[in-house]
Amino acid sequence: EVGAEHETFYPSPPACLDVSVNGSRLELNGRTVLSLVVRDMSAEVAHERQLLAYQQELERANARLHALATTDRLTGVANRGAFNDRLTEEYDRAVRYAHPLSVVMLDVDHFKPFNDTFGHPAGDAVLQRVAGLLQHTARGTDTVARYGGEEFALLLPDTDYAGAMVLAERLRRAVAGGGWEKRPVTVSVGVATLTPDTADAAALVQEADQALYRSKQAGRNRVHHGSSVVPQLATARTPAGG
Ligand code: GH3
Ligand code: MG
Ligand code: MG
Repeated sequence: EVGAEHETFYPSPPACLDVSVNGSRLELNGRTVLSLVVRDMSAEVAHERQLLAYQQELERANARLHALATTDRLTGVANRGAFNDRLTEEYDRAVRYAHPLSVVMLDVDHFKPFNDTFGHPAGDAVLQRVAGLLQHTARGTDTVARYGGEEFALLLPDTDYAGAMVLAERLRRAVAGGGWEKRPVTVSVGVATLTPDTADAAALVQEADQALYRSKQAGRNRVHHGSSVVPQLATARTPAGG
């Protein structure tokens, strides 16, 4: 019969079993007999494999959840919550071991008119670019975060007054020289460094914020430090509550 389909039947492949084997040697009527008990463990093994797969899936989901909870969706840098967590950790560490610690706050200059002129999506693109420039300019150990709408914060562990000012100026320049097409984009910057007088971690951010305000007042696109004198390195002390 031309064109008819012919089916060929193959035997199904042999099922592979997971087995356990228990062996014992017996003396029977003066002869040694080997007794083997083979148990089909397939169901148990399949169950274990499934449990392991569930566990791995759960771990991946947890990692994704953690990333979502700590990352700013628009820019991909840390969000404010993650910054504050890191700040608390680094503050306690710096106080305990008398290590330097600095905070940098940056705010995009005249950003409202930029949005009003070029639209919100163009404004979003600026924020993404600024975040990228900051991330690229900072060191791997620094935390770059989007602190608010058009405000960014950097946490600089092991960085004293001079080091923080050098980096802050580098950040300012990186943004100003970012090769902007529509309109120049600049940031005003405020810096604060831990001193023996720093009350707590929040005070450090507050001081950087005040310095940022002074940069705005002075004409924008500049860097100010919260302290007019070079702060002395903090001496080791026990952090509050620890
Ligand atoms: P200044 O130099 O004093 O900082 O002026 P400014 O215009 O930047 O300050 P203002 O606080 O008046 O405006 C901030 C603007 O940032 C207003 C708001 O539309 C914009 N903004 C905040 N978050 C976002 C965002 O996620 N995307 C965009 N495109 N714009 C944002
Ligand atoms: Mg602002
Ligand atoms: Mg602004």
